[in-house]
Amino acid sequence: MFVVGGGPAGLVAAAEAAKAGAEVEVFEEDREVGLPDHCAGLVSSSGLEAITQSRSFVVGKIKGARIFSPDGRRYEAKGPGVKAFVIDRPKFDMEMLRAAERAGVRINLGTRWEGGCDGRVLIIAEGTKARVSRKMGLRPPASIPAAQVDVATDAFDGDMAEIHTGGWAPGFFAWVVPRGEQARVGLASYRGVPLELLNRMLEKNQYISSKVRGARRSAPIFGKVVVGGPLRKAAGKEYIAIGDAGGFVKPTTGGGVVLGCLIAKIAGRVAAEALEGKAALASFEREWKKGFGRDFTAMKLAAKVFSNMRAQEIEGALRCLDNEGLLGAAIGYDMDLQGAVVSKAARSGAVRYALIPLLRSIL
Ligand SMILES: Cc1cc2nc3c(=O)[nH]c(=O)nc-3n(C[C@H](O)[C@H](O)[C@H](O)COP(=O)(O)OP(=O)(O)OC[C@H]3O[C@@H](n4cnc5c(N)ncnc54)[C@H](O)[C@@H]3O)c2cc1C
Repeated sequence: MFVVGGGPAGLVAAAEAAKAGAEVEVFEEDREVGLPDHCAGLVSSSGLEAITQSRSFVVGKIKGARIFSPDGRRYEAKGPGVKAFVIDRPKFDMEMLRAAERAGVRINLGTRWEGGCDGRVLIIAEGTKARVSRKMGLRPPASIPAAQVDVATDAFDGDMAEIHTGGWAPGFFAWVVPRGEQARVGLASYRGVPLELLNRMLEKNQYISSKVRGARRSAPIFGKVVVGGPLRKAAGKEYIAIGDAGGFVKPTTGGGVVLGCLIAKIAGRVAAEALEGKAALASFEREWKKGFGRDFTAMKLAAKVFSNMRAQEIEGALRCLDNEGLLGAAIGYDMDLQGAVVSKAARSGAVRYALIPLLRSIL
């Protein structure tokens, strides 16, 4: 069995299949895994626990989030314990590679997969590049462009992630993720040029600019955030598309490490069973939907509504959620399986700010 892509999804699927007795080879076109490092690195502590026990790649511990409304009003959700980790992705990916090797997977670095399936079982974990997917006739999940920069500053609270909504990042949001002596500041957006929007925010957002002024900045980091949700059919007769390639990314936040890896485990197991003739690859669809289907449906709807909200609607919805105590309580909800928090918000007064954006998204 072959796996295209040595990112977290490909490596976790490969390890799982090898543990189930399959002979597995991974093809990674780069000479090192995890590079270029285009990820903000924020992962839930509960999700990470389900993937690995190692913490060698953790560079920050997050207890909550600060959400800024389009007008700059601040809301906060913070708990006593660690809710999320900030991870160094190259180190994390290396850890996943070592785990795959320990499970007996053969890894080919610096080797691009150029073919299709050609009668073999193929796991497509090529991220957003979509060259193999297109060859197989798959339409890649929708994504939006992102830009980030590392700023040498410890002026942001080290245990809080920040979300900035409104015109700074039309349709999506901007973020600040502290990582020790640095902060990774970035945004993704449906409209405009991300790097221009990011530079504008760094200069014109008074709260951010006061914290980053004069600080050394890295070269910009670019990437594509997957927002389209899972492919309608991620498994064919000879392949399974996983991770970003399969759309297994939270459409609400663009976070794909945890769910990508958890669903990759299912893909690895199903692929190993298929090789033994015990299951069809298509059973992957049923399997991932059993654990994650409802949450993805809810998150996709919430993201669709949010991307169509105007500034005053976001303003009103945040105020309402805060008045009803939902923003503060959000810290108690699962960061990855967001179906429950979405349904709670849908039953709150904030829903009146979502109806017109919902109509807009349909029209
Ligand atoms: C700006 C930004 C910020 C993000 N922040 C977060 C975050 O804070 N938390 C979070 O959980 N997620 C975040 N994500 C999402 C996260 O980075 C992805 O969901 C995750 O990396 C997906 O893993 P993957 O294994 O599917 O793909 P990738 O990590 O993209 O790995 C795919 C690999 O396949 C290789 N490849 C592609 N084609 C071929 C080929 N033909 N042959 C051989 N190799 C090939 C590539 O070189 C690459 O190494 C962010 C994404 C972006 C763009």
